[in-house]
Amino acid sequence: MNKNLTVAFSRRVQLENRRNPPQKPKSALADNTTDDTSDVDAEILEVDDRQYVGLDWLRVTHLSKPPYEHRRGSPSWIFDYGYRVWHIRKQKVYWLCMWCHQHKRAGGEYDVDKATSAAQNHLKANKPGHGYNIKGKINFQLPENQKSLLVNIQGKGVGIS
Ligand SMILES: [Zn+2]
Repeated sequence: MNKNLTVAFSRRVQLENRRNPPQKPKSALADNTTDDTSDVDAEILEVDDRQYVGLDWLRVTHLSKPPYEHRRGSPSWIFDYGYRVWHIRKQKVYWLCMWCHQHKRAGGEYDVDKATSAAQNHLKANKPGHGYNIKGKINFQLPENQKSLLVNIQGKGVGIS
């Protein structure tokens, strides 16, 4: 078993134990006495815990793990920099910025149920811990804006002396 997974899993178990008294081990669920609550727990634990390393669930009690995994197709690149979480009240998949969460910054939480553009815009910002696009770290030193400005000026026929 992957080491990170083991760590995340044991952390999760600790969290569960704090909330509920320890229950039967997962392997014992196979017997025919299943009550509703243990069914739900078993389902949640099936979602891969590795992606939640560094997420302090106790600080975001309005969020939980999504009840289902990514749909078909590869997940968006924004999940390299943020957690895929479930907004309990809104019943939607949300994206929680890893950097903002780990640095205890307000915000950084976006509805990605239909579109990921809000989360992408958040990641693009030229500020500490951010500045990413689909290709990775954005090089803000590139004089792209200057170049396009020059093209604009020349296009308008303004003489440059
Ligand atoms: Zn952020």
